[in-house]
Amino acid sequence: MYDFIVLGGGILGMSTAMELARTYPDRRMLLLEKEEDLARHQSGHNSGVIHAGVYYAPGSLKAKFCTEGNRATKQFCQEHGIRYDTCGKLLVATNDLEMERMRGLWERTQANGLEREWLCAEELREREPNITGVGAIFVPSSGIVDYAAIARAMGQEFERLGGEILLSCEVSGVEERPNEVVVKTARGEMSARHLVTCAGLMADRVVRMLGKDPGFTICPFRGEYYQLAPEHNRIVNHLIYPIPDPSMPFLGVHLTRMIDGSVTVGPNAVLALKREGYRKRDVSLPDTAALLTHPGVLKVLQKHWRPGLKEIRNSMFKGRYLDEVRKYCPGLTLEDLKAYPAGVRAQAVSREGRLVDDFLFVNSRRTVNVCNAPSPAATSAIPIGKHIVAKVRQQVEG
Ligand SMILES: Cc1cc2nc3c(=O)[nH]c(=O)nc-3n(C[C@H](O)[C@H](O)[C@H](O)COP(=O)(O)OP(=O)(O)OC[C@H]3O[C@@H](n4cnc5c(N)ncnc54)[C@H](O)[C@@H]3O)c2cc1C
Repeated sequence: MYDFIVLGGGILGMSTAMELARTYPDRRMLLLEKEEDLARHQSGHNSGVIHAGVYYAPGSLKAKFCTEGNRATKQFCQEHGIRYDTCGKLLVATNDLEMERMRGLWERTQANGLEREWLCAEELREREPNITGVGAIFVPSSGIVDYAAIARAMGQEFERLGGEILLSCEVSGVEERPNEVVVKTARGEMSARHLVTCAGLMADRVVRMLGKDPGFTICPFRGEYYQLAPEHNRIVNHLIYPIPDPSMPFLGVHLTRMIDGSVTVGPNAVLALKREGYRKRDVSLPDTAALLTHPGVLKVLQKHWRPGLKEIRNSMFKGRYLDEVRKYCPGLTLEDLKAYPAGVRAQAVSREGRLVDDFLFVNSRRTVNVCNAPSPAATSAIPIGKHIVAKVRQQVEG
């Protein structure tokens, strides 16, 4: 019997496992991951941005964990020899409506305690000669990193402290009993005093395995990218973001300097017809049926059909995708956009049709389950891991 089992080898599972091993050095613990390696899903398919905490509602878990996580991620990288770059970010307004929304973001950055600078069109051009806009906010603490490298380093730390990692081991059932939690896998049953699940795109299914009604479903949104041709690797000096529509949970197609020196464009947000479907042609009939019969998802589709159709159109037609980025980077052409792998976001949607905005955890007597952890959860992984371990500690002591 283990003291703790952690399900999920993404960055949240690894951060939690590492924190458990640091907090309880004498206990037996195991991490289970269904893939052949760590960080194969969201944690290995993202923009690699260390967010500063610009967008999130003051007082929300996202605002708190993101600002803490920005510092903690950089410190972890320094301690473990992982390359990162605090290159800063520009949020660029291209018209009057976006300028109005930018004022709202400016106030939010103040409420979230961020260092930032207001730039007029002229100052923007001086900093970024290839970017056009009517104004911008500069946030110096944003950065870039490889989150898969961080997850792997956390795994090494966990093993160094005595934890075991079992890869290619899918959990197919969970049963919570008075004194233990039993997980069923193809390699047999394993039990622990406490279980933490960080299942990303499968979060609702794991909660259902526990016999609980999660009250939400995970809606997968594919985020498609392009990579700029290498001659454009120096086209921008910072991360370049549009001003997002505040009614939508995604940040809009941005120009991202990657830690390997390349620049990506993206991601968009297209409803995916398979939970772990990274290609446009990936369709799972059971996933699609579950999605299109969920009352909450239907309400979301009804409410957001216009931006939803626009995302599909931009996904189908590269020229339309290009239009999005040319709003602020007019020099780019179709030939500049090269193929790049997509990611799939796990976004919880409530039965009432709400896109759950904040991080969400569902706990039982012996389990803690991460249920909604979209961006900026990679940035926030270290404080989220500490938050989960504090919950586990309450269960251990209670
Ligand atoms: C396109 C995109 C761009 C993003 N950009 C950023 C960004 O720039 N900055 C940022 O901070 N965040 C970003 N994010 C968000 C961030 O990547 C995720 O929030 C974070 O990686 C979530 O980590 P996780 O561990 O919860 O999930 P995951 O990394 O998806 O890990 C879940 C793991 O659980 C495993 N699992 C599931 N079910 C089972 C089972 N039954 N048995 C065993 N194992 C199981 C899966 O195989 C998987 O490895 C982005 C996300 C996407 C998709």
